[in-house]
Amino acid sequence: MTRTLIRARLLTFLREPQSGDDTASFRYIEDGALLIEGGMIRDMGEFAQMSAPDVAVIDHRPHLVMPGFIDTHLHFPQTQVIASWAAELLDWLNDYTFPEETRYGDPALCAAMASAFLDRLADHGTTTPVAYASVHATSAEALFAEALRRDMRLITGKVMMDRNAPESLRDTAQSGYDDTKALIARWHGKGRLAYAITPRFAITSTPDQMAAAQALAQEHPECYIQTHLSENHAEIALSCQLYPDAVDYTDIYARYGLLGPKSLLGHAIHLSNRETGVLADAGAKPVFCPTSNLFLGSGLFDDAKLRAAGLVTAIATDIGGGTSYSMLQTLAEGYKVLQLQRQRLHPLRAFHWITRGNAVALGLEHCIGTLDAGTEADFVVLNARATPATAQRMDRATTLTEELFALQVMGDDRAVVQTYIAGKPQKAG
Ligand SMILES: [Zn+2]
Repeated sequence: MTRTLIRARLLTFLREPQSGDDTASFRYIEDGALLIEGGMIRDMGEFAQMSAPDVAVIDHRPHLVMPGFIDTHLHFPQTQVIASWAAELLDWLNDYTFPEETRYGDPALCAAMASAFLDRLADHGTTTPVAYASVHATSAEALFAEALRRDMRLITGKVMMDRNAPESLRDTAQSGYDDTKALIARWHGKGRLAYAITPRFAITSTPDQMAAAQALAQEHPECYIQTHLSENHAEIALSCQLYPDAVDYTDIYARYGLLGPKSLLGHAIHLSNRETGVLADAGAKPVFCPTSNLFLGSGLFDDAKLRAAGLVTAIATDIGGGTSYSMLQTLAEGYKVLQLQRQRLHPLRAFHWITRGNAVALGLEHCIGTLDAGTEADFVVLNARATPATAQRMDRATTLTEELFALQVMGDDRAVVQTYIAGKPQKAG
């Protein structure tokens, strides 16, 4: 098997940084090397101690190699409705998103868009997406097939939605159950793929469909569950109106057994203390989607409150309510959302969040999210000097923290020199 050494400056996290000077939380090697073989990282260390005459070297100096970014919430069929003009969430769904998603019943379109979607993610340094497909089984099929072809780690699922959407975008409680069952059997655990049971949100699922999702969750504890929670006030009011027996929005999902450690809850902005407690007891994972929350005017994610309650939070783009594929831009907007609440996002914690932190939220830190020996060879090569403006800024930066913060605030796909998935470079040139 071919063995390759990747030579670069290396940065990987051992645990979540507790402060800006928590130097024991990460490992930084100025002249480091990763030994790659069979799609895995076999070793990590000082280049001088790892070079060997029979091993080819790819030299990425002076760039910085970090684990590949993990995007824990985005929508495969929404790449062509990014930047659509709407007042707020429910208008945006009805006016742009639902009509767009109706196109994904076409297998040829799905195949072409799956390839384009994964190309865009690689351009931006994302190596593991957790994506919603459309209601059509064919959309999830296409995305799984394309990810398998690339030997990519990917989590997705066909959306379940049987009301409050155009007819061509509705399944039924039974067909949603059957299609999900078939997709799990066909794809979950194949290659690096995993299934997420995906009731879109309470508004678009009848109680019968929620019961079907509950049955799927009980029959398939190996699968993830993903849905949306408390993004917007009108959404919360309508959800509670549709489920009058529930005491609040979170209680709707709790009643149907959809809250657990493998549950990813997009947005989770407007939560009462009771709801936060319920989520913490369940070990569910709220997902912060800053560019989307700002774009749709949804509200400010209270990360400090959720973390104080013991919750592990994740961070994501939410394409196409989100406005950038870039996890760097996501961190930039996340920083500003937290600033407005007098919370701080230090660059060490920020880069931990989009790598090991999101891996921990997915329970996958033994596979991805670090550069540790024995993990999958998904990593990014970053250049903080990629544009004239960032190069000019970097001329006055002297520390790793300053470099990271410049990437966090000013970085985007131009800073991503290369993205490796299972040890293979994904970007041309
Ligand atoms: Zn979403």
